[in-house]
Amino acid sequence: MNEAPHLTFDPDTPGVSRGHLVVPGGSDRGELSLPVFSLNKGEGPHLLVTGGNHGNELEGPIVARRLIKWLPKEQICGRVIVLPVLNPLAVEAWSRNTPLDGLNLNRVFPGRADGSVTQRIADAVSRVLLPMADTVFDLHSFGPTWDFPPAATTHPIADPDLMARTVRTAEAFKLPLTLVWQHNDTAGMFDIEAQNQSKVFVCAEFGGGTVGADNLAIYEAGVRNALISLRLVEGKAEYPTFRQRKSSQSLETRLSDQLKSPARGIFEPRCSVFDEVNQGDIIGVLHPIDSLTAESTDIRAQGLSIILGIGSGSYVHANEVVALVARPLKL
Ligand SMILES: [Zn+2]
Repeated sequence: MNEAPHLTFDPDTPGVSRGHLVVPGGSDRGELSLPVFSLNKGEGPHLLVTGGNHGNELEGPIVARRLIKWLPKEQICGRVIVLPVLNPLAVEAWSRNTPLDGLNLNRVFPGRADGSVTQRIADAVSRVLLPMADTVFDLHSFGPTWDFPPAATTHPIADPDLMARTVRTAEAFKLPLTLVWQHNDTAGMFDIEAQNQSKVFVCAEFGGGTVGADNLAIYEAGVRNALISLRLVEGKAEYPTFRQRKSSQSLETRLSDQLKSPARGIFEPRCSVFDEVNQGDIIGVLHPIDSLTAESTDIRAQGLSIILGIGSGSYVHANEVVALVARPLKL
């Protein structure tokens, strides 16, 4: 019989604690010890910050470690628990999923104590860390094949009160984009398990391309802004500068807002994030690779909308999403 997942320290202890979340071993490998930081300053919000849910999204672990550095000087109340790397096996492989079992950690929540390693990580987080928090920030990024603005996101939530509190918390990041994102692949997400436990859960998503200093500064500023709004730290929240602008917009995107490639080929983007497009405007062009006489295909906007994310120039399969559009959020 395995031991239960546990923390190696008591986060109720006042002040800074450092230790591990122990994920018990199973038939596929031995136990994992995930480094965890906690700072308890008494009464106040209980925040959990996680990164490294997907192993090829490394802004989150970096920003989480920055947070650990400045929190001891700046946190004035409440308790913040930081777990920079949820899935070290995926990070080591720079892979979205865990190589050992092929699973996407963000689709197996609440996990299984007797499951494979990814399921055991989810189980440990769900049973040990989630009950300790009232608010969760899970730091993701959009991956290298997309242009996507720095964003604080949530999915639509059935409970209108939790939805409103979640959107308010997401907007408090003051990132260029606050997004309510409807998609049909939400089963097993960390968000869903947290919301089932009535937590405010914000998923920060970061733009495509490389992990660079400018983007990390925006990401860190967003997390700091959110901590200011929770009154965990003092200070003045400010919009970070993104593409020469200090501004933010709240948008929503629906399943029907996905633009898909009509065939396989090389996708060429023809617009940038936050561009406004009208029905019929060309968003991108698909180039065939097996014929010089076949025409390239224009991919056009279906209606008035705002470009939210657009694929980089790359080979795409038929029916693959190449762009996401959005519209102003109405709650
Ligand atoms: Zn992710």
